Amino acid sequence: MKTFPMFLQMQGRRVVIAGGGEQAAQKCRLILKTDASITVLALSLEPELADLHAQGRIDWQASSISASDFSEAALVFIATGCPAADASLHALAKDAGATVNVVDQPDLCDAITPSIVDRSPVVVAIGTEGTAPVLARQIKTRLEETLEPRLGDLAALAGRLRDRAAARLGPRVRRDLWRWVFAGPARDAHARGGERKAAEMIKQAIDTATFGQDSAGSVALVGAGPGSKDLITLRGVQRLQEADIIYYDRLIDPEVLDLARRDAERVYVGKAPGCHHWPQDKISSVLVAAARQGKRVVRLKCGDPGVFARGSEEADALTTAGIDYEIVPGVTAASAASAALGGFLTERGTCDTLVLATGHSEVAGTNPDWIKALHPGTRVAVYMGVGSAPQIAKALKTAGLEDCVSIDIVSRAQQKDQVISRCRASTLIETIQTDGILNPAIVFLTWPHFATKTEAERGDLPFKILA
Ligand code: SAH
Repeated sequence: MKTFPMFLQMQGRRVVIAGGGEQAAQKCRLILKTDASITVLALSLEPELADLHAQGRIDWQASSISASDFSEAALVFIATGCPAADASLHALAKDAGATVNVVDQPDLCDAITPSIVDRSPVVVAIGTEGTAPVLARQIKTRLEETLEPRLGDLAALAGRLRDRAAARLGPRVRRDLWRWVFAGPARDAHARGGERKAAEMIKQAIDTATFGQDSAGSVALVGAGPGSKDLITLRGVQRLQEADIIYYDRLIDPEVLDLARRDAERVYVGKAPGCHHWPQDKISSVLVAAARQGKRVVRLKCGDPGVFARGSEEADALTTAGIDYEIVPGVTAASAASAALGGFLTERGTCDTLVLATGHSEVAGTNPDWIKALHPGTRVAVYMGVGSAPQIAKALKTAGLEDCVSIDIVSRAQQKDQVISRCRASTLIETIQTDGILNPAIVFLTWPHFATKTEAERGDLPFKILA
């Protein structure tokens, strides 16, 4: 090891940053995470630093610089962006005996800033002694995925309860206790947002000196996003990695399932349109049964679990069975499809109302009636719409909207074989056939505010990228 990692005490200490541009602002952002007071030495400040100064969060010294400006500093950053200025400021700071970091000049550095995973008070610093910064960032990304965002709060809670544990439990039991806290249901409850519940569990474990027998399972209804594995949320990946068993849908991409632990059980509960191998009540009951066995269950649904995903039926069954569940949102198909078009779901002044509708309802007597929602300035995203294309075309024709509503179709949005098409109601069926549009697809119906005259002038394109 040519460098040695240490955590510097920053409370009540001073950090000096020489430079008033972007490089200095970057270092400032980093040090603002700490309790140190910051002095910036620069003739002028770029806007972010100027704002921080106006807010009183940093001190600014614009007069000429001497060695004494660097004395008593816990750390000095030289970040002017000009190598010659950096070199002379470095010499001054060294005269003052400071520990110095000169941006992008490793040879002049006493200290190198690591890549940081910040779950304060849990902080991971990754360094490669300047050999492979890209590797450091890759490691950081992995850790960001693995360590839940609220981990720091759990560590802080444990810190607050240390005295209570020390007063009641011997050292060996205390070690077991903390092992249980960080590997067991208290951490799970905390990660899912149940801070009070986690605190109660830990306090009870301390007071009764019993822990480790808690066998309550849990269920997370997780949105997998539209199919590509980098469009699931970090929280979704976290739940997949914790899961003992995963019940997944038809539209789940195998790449997303690969994000789960290798030894997690995977159960396909897919429902192809029209043929229901796994009726909904059977899915609900296997979720309840697995949780009752103490398993950590993930119910993985494509897109967002709250959009046409029958999430509420599963949630009701879990509530009735007294089982806690958590909903982890996902990127819904309409968002994915709109991004694939290079467009935006809403566009100020053009399309201010967004309606999510289904082209297909299984509940008798509740045929989707999205046509009533269509007004100027509205975009309807029809899910499961390919099979109902004839009804869509007919409804638009009957309502006399064939000319003012544009249709964009995105099949397999954000997947390798994505297909995009654009047409009018009169050519919808033909377009679906000739372009080979298959499910899953989103059919966007857009009636922009500028329909008619201006529409023609603007090229008749609600999703502007296609212009
Ligand atoms: N919960 C999902 C929707 C489930 S209903 C979500 O939030 O996206 C299934 C329908 O979603 C499909 O028929 C199709 O209309 C749409 N869908 C799902 N994935 C899609 C994708 N990658 N591209 C386009 N549409 C998709």
